[in-house]
Amino acid sequence: MAERPERGKVASYIPELAKIDPRKFGLVVVSNDGEIAVAGDSEAPFSIQSISKVFTLTLALGKIGDRLWQRVGREPSGSAFNSIVQLEYEKGKPRNPFINSGAIAVTDVILSGQPREALGEILRFMQFVADDNAIKIDDEVAASEQRTGYRNAALANYMKSFGVLDNPVHFTLGVYFHHCAIAMNCRQLAMAGRFLANNGINPSTGMSVVTPERAKRINSIMMMCGHYDGSGEFAYRVGLPGKSGVGGGILAVAPGKASIAVWSPGLDETGNSYLGRIALEQLTRRMGWSVFGA
Ligand code: GLN
Repeated sequence: MAERPERGKVASYIPELAKIDPRKFGLVVVSNDGEIAVAGDSEAPFSIQSISKVFTLTLALGKIGDRLWQRVGREPSGSAFNSIVQLEYEKGKPRNPFINSGAIAVTDVILSGQPREALGEILRFMQFVADDNAIKIDDEVAASEQRTGYRNAALANYMKSFGVLDNPVHFTLGVYFHHCAIAMNCRQLAMAGRFLANNGINPSTGMSVVTPERAKRINSIMMMCGHYDGSGEFAYRVGLPGKSGVGGGILAVAPGKASIAVWSPGLDETGNSYLGRIALEQLTRRMGWSVFGA
């Protein structure tokens, strides 16, 4: 990938993310039988941002099950990750758990179950699924977003006015900004995605993280909504469930085969990693991993 000059633009609306070197590139594949393939900056930590929403969705479903869908939909939005317009038409109920409004509502559910410990619970869950206690939150990124997250504050206040959030808006947003600021490298992220590639089971311990049914459903939401208004293009080109973050990471799941993490900080106009998607397209084509056929 080093020879590709076009890399998109690093996110700058979170000031701390604007400092990241756009030339970074990392890729890690962890197969279901435990083989690991690495390339590039696979050990460099980056801000996982919206990729954290896969794990908060998993936790919230664990807490309240299908009742979650009374608060958040599961349809693609066809609009930007931070869009406000749909919320008014749909009376404060976010389209899906991966756009910002939906993820904030999911965070609120976790906070209600665990008022003092929500953030710790999210971080520990991440460490558990990745088998790695070294994973941390980057407090500077969290503080940077907390200072400037006006749009997320607008979304949260708007949902609160419809009674979609139970907790005080600043609590929910505080937890949301901090879980978005979890820093991981590609290896840790690919490890964390293994349960989704492996019918809900963590392959190194053999322990069930979620039921096979739930893993399948989380994957389907990643496929339909994981790249916002770029989800159709991602499905068309890569053909795997995937979740992006504005830090430039993508977690992709080849069900029954492998968990894949890629990182390239430059973003396309839909806020998804520009080179990350190209790399995944090449990988899935070479491996015949698209869920839609070889
Ligand atoms: N924390 C970011 C935000 O709320 C996450 C967005 C993203 O990664 N797409 O704007």
